[in-house]
Amino acid sequence: MISKVLIANRGEIALRILRACKELGIATVAVHSTADADAMHVRLADESVCIGPPPSRDSYLNIHQIVAACEITGADAVHPGYGFLSENAKFADILDAHGITFIGPTAEHIRLMGDKITAKKTAVELGIPVVPGSAGEVKPENALEIAREIGFPVLIKATAGGGGRGMKVAKTEDELEEAVSTARSEALAAFGNDAVYMEKYLGKPRHIEVQVLGDGEGNAVHLGERDCSLQRRHQKVWEEANSPALNVEQRMRIGQICADAMKKMKYRGAGTVEFLYENGEFYFIEMNTRLQVEHPITEAITGIDLVHEQIRIASGGGISVTQDEIKFSGHAIECRINAEDPRTFTPSPGTITHFHAPGGLGVRVDSGAYQGYKIPPYYDSLIGKLIVHGRTRVECMMRLRRVLDEFVIDGIKTTLPLFQDLISNQDIANGDYDIHWLEKYLAEKP
Ligand code: ADP
Repeated sequence: MISKVLIANRGEIALRILRACKELGIATVAVHSTADADAMHVRLADESVCIGPPPSRDSYLNIHQIVAACEITGADAVHPGYGFLSENAKFADILDAHGITFIGPTAEHIRLMGDKITAKKTAVELGIPVVPGSAGEVKPENALEIAREIGFPVLIKATAGGGGRGMKVAKTEDELEEAVSTARSEALAAFGNDAVYMEKYLGKPRHIEVQVLGDGEGNAVHLGERDCSLQRRHQKVWEEANSPALNVEQRMRIGQICADAMKKMKYRGAGTVEFLYENGEFYFIEMNTRLQVEHPITEAITGIDLVHEQIRIASGGGISVTQDEIKFSGHAIECRINAEDPRTFTPSPGTITHFHAPGGLGVRVDSGAYQGYKIPPYYDSLIGKLIVHGRTRVECMMRLRRVLDEFVIDGIKTTLPLFQDLISNQDIANGDYDIHWLEKYLAEKP
């Protein structure tokens, strides 16, 4: 059993995890940098420990400080949230060596999925359909031969990739050499590893991902999919569940493929299998071995608390539901509210002078922000998530329009106005968009 959880994260997700722990009667420890001493999750936690100065590498990424905070407070488990150390296999190993439970998968599975080449190989072995591409690493010497085999256009991707960095398209043979060398140097700078691989570049795909849960003993379920096609610079902006592009048969088929794969690998915890979807076909791109930012839309349509499930699985209690018991009800949309200029997307840190969150049926706001809160400039600009649920997609959209009008965040710039534009757009109303739609829309906007 787990009795005290240390939350190794900040912002809205730290608060999200804290809420789940409180509901389960588990004590909480917040860790924070000096810049986050006033954060809401720090105020609400049973105990808190300052683990260092503002830069993440000295605080939220500082494994020694976090392990020390566990020992000082007697925390017997760590929830890593997303980002920071959530997909760091070494961190999972070190916690294990200290007898502290890592609320997540095994270090071995984190490693397997953290390297995109081994992840893709594993996906093939598990019966998951993948994007056609190179069998392994691509070097400048063999790039042309491989690209000709795959057929142009091709995409060069970093094996250690994340956040769209180290990714370059080559439309023709002329562009290949430069694409490979830029991808390699970007990958080296961002991840300290210049290995790249190659994939067929899909022209107009949607990004569709499947939520899974495994108990580590060979039982696993899927909780349907999320459509995260509305992206800017490979960052998700608006997500929905279910995908407007899939019917029930497609949903259950790809869900079952993922659940079966998780059973075979004896996956433990929550995970997301990400696909590109084009012309009725799914192509695996990667698996995230952690909770995702957009997990609440899955919770909205299934009624299942994913953080409760993670904690239950980590305590050895297994998954609380069987596949047959998981029912999908209605439609949910999440808007990521960033402290950014809604046109230029430049960060807008500062003090929130007025904050009023919307409410009513089917409305959830996950945010650590409050009136008087000073957004520090050191971290990502996500300050909250607005999640709206309705019985149908139309009802969900109507509700979202009402809720966006109600939300007040003054003193800083936010991306709320962008969502007010999107909610009035005909393509969005029709659910008719691919992964390039938002960038095109933003470029053409008067
Ligand atoms: P990262 O880990 O850097 O986020 P992903 O492999 O998840 O990398 O890809 C991020 C995004 O890049 C996808 O959501 C999609 O928009 C685009 N992308 C990835 N692979 C392809 C591909 N083969 N063809 C077209 N677009 C792709």
